[in-house]
Amino acid sequence: MPRDIAFQKCIKPDCAATFGVTEVLEACPRCGNLLDVCYDWEKVPVPSSLADFEKRWATRRSPLDFSGVWRFRELLPFALPEDIVTIGEGQTLLRKCEPVAAYAGMKQDNLYLQYEGLNPSGSFKDNGMTAAFTHARMVGAARAACASTGNTSASVALYAACSGLLRAVVFIGKGKIALGKLVQALDSGALTLEIEGDFDDAMKRVMEVSGEEGIYLMNSVNPFRLEGQKAIMYRVLEALAWKPPDWIVVPGGNLGNSSAFGKAFMELSELGLVSRIPRLAVVNSTGANTLCTLVNNRDLRWNGGSFDDGVIDSYYAELDQVGKRAKTLASAIEINRPVNLKKCLRAVEIMDGVVCEVTDEEILDAKAKIAASSIGCEPASAASVAGVKKLVAEGTIGRDERVVCILTGHQLKDPDVTIAYHTGPGQDVGDKLAAYGVRQASFRNAPIPVPNDLGAIKEAIAANSNH
Ligand SMILES: *Cc1c(COP(=O)(O)O)cnc(C)c1O
Ligand SMILES: [Zn+2]
Repeated sequence: MPRDIAFQKCIKPDCAATFGVTEVLEACPRCGNLLDVCYDWEKVPVPSSLADFEKRWATRRSPLDFSGVWRFRELLPFALPEDIVTIGEGQTLLRKCEPVAAYAGMKQDNLYLQYEGLNPSGSFKDNGMTAAFTHARMVGAARAACASTGNTSASVALYAACSGLLRAVVFIGKGKIALGKLVQALDSGALTLEIEGDFDDAMKRVMEVSGEEGIYLMNSVNPFRLEGQKAIMYRVLEALAWKPPDWIVVPGGNLGNSSAFGKAFMELSELGLVSRIPRLAVVNSTGANTLCTLVNNRDLRWNGGSFDDGVIDSYYAELDQVGKRAKTLASAIEINRPVNLKKCLRAVEIMDGVVCEVTDEEILDAKAKIAASSIGCEPASAASVAGVKKLVAEGTIGRDERVVCILTGHQLKDPDVTIAYHTGPGQDVGDKLAAYGVRQASFRNAPIPVPNDLGAIKEAIAANSNH
């Protein structure tokens, strides 16, 4: 695939400035808005039907055909095959889950869970990182940086370690990272900077540093990362025999995923590869609900690209004035200034989307319910199921519609929160969870202490015969 078919373009239609594919930009130099990666589709050998991609299942020994991102490479054609950095990402699973459907109030056959925790670093971030590392190789970068609530740093650290291409420096908010994720950055050998502050602080600093030091930025302001994340939608469609579901439901943090999903469907629709676009639901935690507040309470819309910047600016000024910080146990979405806000608004428009917010208690109950009947996930991921439950109860999602929830990260990422949930005192939760407004753990499953004695062990099993 020749390089001249891809270029970067400002998302704001009345600017629409374009830049070469090998330029390294964090925003449009003309107007400051985000950039997209765009293609001259006429020159791309896009298959005439999505089912044509299935032929690559037979050639999985080739790394590009094995990758759950690059076997769809004609849909993100910005790199030459020899530029591509892949470590086997995207071997994920779509699973129908009847008990979770019942929990959410859906018909039993109609709810699917898309397990992105099965990626090499244990979160969906690898879909994007393979694309961003590919671009970093194309531009000859030597060092990569990111700010992270945990999973981006785990993914950057892993891709840096496996590819040996770039040295990684990761910025994390002090005390703001789940243990399983910190473990990954340290073990993969990334230079790890613990900033006094939260994600929003770390993000601001990494932007400053990467601009001044010429370090390649791996956060989702990087439009190449989002190109890789489109593949999550391609695999969902593939698992459903290319028949689009009615809804895609995803937790919203920095809003890169939701943005990528919108772009994926915009392009598939333009290319005539899907006949229908699913609706999108983006789910915030009540403790980090910028998107929800702006869309539902202040009527912020993409509006064909004529969005009202003033609404965003005045909201952020209010946050500053009262010193409000994001606060949720779902640490992967503990973000008050989502960098992809405007792209997400566009995705909401393209996919006729909705946004909603759920409490940390709803998130943790949904998480326990998911793990008790299917493959577990981390707290942020379960916001998707908690969101479906809420949207079904409100009548926004019909109980007989087909819904796909994106489970964004692995169960073992955040053992602290899970242990606190299951072992808190009685049905009440311990102090750690109470500080986040969680009052009760409805699906608590604490270990039962038993003496090392055969009789006592038999008794304990008999006493819990219904468990
Ligand atoms: C990064 C992340 C999110 C948030 O995704 P965005 O694209 O930033 O909205 C949600 N869940 C998990 C597990 C994550 O790692
Ligand atoms: Zn611009």
